[in-house]
Amino acid sequence: MIYLKTDEEIELLRAANQIVARTLAEVAKVIAPGVTTLKLDAVAEEYIRSQGAVPGFKGYGGFPGTLCVSVNENVVHGIPSNYALREGDIVSVDCGAVKDGYNGDSTYTFCVGEVDEEVLRLLRTTKESLYVGIEHAVEGNRIGDIGHAIQEYCEKRGYGVVREMCGHGVGRKLHEDPDVPNYGRRGTGPLIKNGMVIAIEPMINMGSKNIVIERDGWTTRTKDRKPSAHYEHTIAIHHGKPDILSSFEYVEEVLGDRSI
Ligand code: MG
Ligand code: MG
Repeated sequence: MIYLKTDEEIELLRAANQIVARTLAEVAKVIAPGVTTLKLDAVAEEYIRSQGAVPGFKGYGGFPGTLCVSVNENVVHGIPSNYALREGDIVSVDCGAVKDGYNGDSTYTFCVGEVDEEVLRLLRTTKESLYVGIEHAVEGNRIGDIGHAIQEYCEKRGYGVVREMCGHGVGRKLHEDPDVPNYGRRGTGPLIKNGMVIAIEPMINMGSKNIVIERDGWTTRTKDRKPSAHYEHTIAIHHGKPDILSSFEYVEEVLGDRSI
């Protein structure tokens, strides 16, 4: 069941997603070699609560953190820990917040210090593919058009597109219908309509598309242990076109010339 949102609900979803966007910027300020992923989680939780919101992931299906923090070969759902970031790591920070009953959901993959050029290229391509996908999220298209565009963009550049996990509807629940895969065929899947709110979130691997889940039951990593990148925006289809409710603007203000 796909819930179409009213204009009023879209504004509530925008408010929640803007809190997430600013939380990611607070996290960006502290990312550096030697900082633990638990520290990032604490910074995020404190900021979310200061905005009168609550962490969206904490307790979701039993997840212990405010953030999913996934380093290097970890794709998604990394649990914040005592792991101290190292120069050359990449770290995907996935954040959710609930404000006035509505969810925000957005992800940014950061560099820790200097990162290899080939890893930077993976990050840039993944971020670009997110916007390529968003361009296809227009009224009258189908959900498969989004995934097709992302898949084509990334595979052409030699990367693996994760199949097992995908984007989703966002609303009062963090995960609503429809699923929004990062692969697919043109002209397939649910029709895209005004009032749909969806998270688009390419998870792109340097090597093969294959993943495994670690014994903690959460952390998902690439099977070949090559790096993986993840960027996510929550968008509304509004007046026929995509309206990005989250934002990387605050993060990129913090990163300045370190932006990828
Ligand atoms: Mg997310
Ligand atoms: Mg999501």
